[in-house]
Amino acid sequence: MPKQPTVWDIIARLAQEAEQQGQPSPVLDHVAPAVPLTARQAHTVMQTHRACERWQCARKAAAWDVLVAVGKVVPRPRNGAM
Ligand SMILES: [Zn+2]
Repeated sequence: MPKQPTVWDIIARLAQEAEQQGQPSPVLDHVAPAVPLTARQAHTVMQTHRACERWQCARKAAAWDVLVAVGKVVPRPRNGAM
């Protein structure tokens, strides 16, 4: 039995399908948050905006910054940085 997709899987898929058509996701808000995100909110944003590129999506970029600041995410070194 295939595992049931979670609501986050569905939202991410909708986002991905929209982006493949060159459109922002209809189910997500991609503008920068008006108030700073909590770590929990940031984690959710990273999941729902999985299809977004950080340099294109201000909300994902803001979430990323929060997770880096609290140590939940370690930025991958750039190619050749090792
Ligand atoms: Zn986004």
